[in-house]
Amino acid sequence: MEAQKQHLGIPRTLIPWYPIIDQERCTGCMNCVRACKHDVFAMDTDMPLVANPYECVVFCQSCEYVCETGAISHPPKEAVKAVIKELRKQYQPR
Ligand code: SF4
Ligand code: SF4
Repeated sequence: MEAQKQHLGIPRTLIPWYPIIDQERCTGCMNCVRACKHDVFAMDTDMPLVANPYECVVFCQSCEYVCETGAISHPPKEAVKAVIKELRKQYQPR
């Protein structure tokens, strides 16, 4: 069985960092799918889906920069940093 992915010793699935697509703004251009090297997206007919959110590299925003309609966002970075800070206490006790 594949070992669970971690980030700074924390199970990746506990870290809420992944792209969010605003379907109203998305034109289906596929720039995001081409930009991501981590298989986060899958195409559902002609629109992208966030199929593997926890494959997203923590604090990467590359797909946001290639989306010409501003359809992609991520959760607020400061809030995610705060979550990681708390989790590190739990997963890396001094
Ligand atoms: S880059 Fe933006 S507009 Fe293009 S498919 Fe991705 S989310 Fe949709
Ligand atoms: S932020 Fe980076 S790793 Fe995450 S989905 Fe976008 S391009 Fe892929």
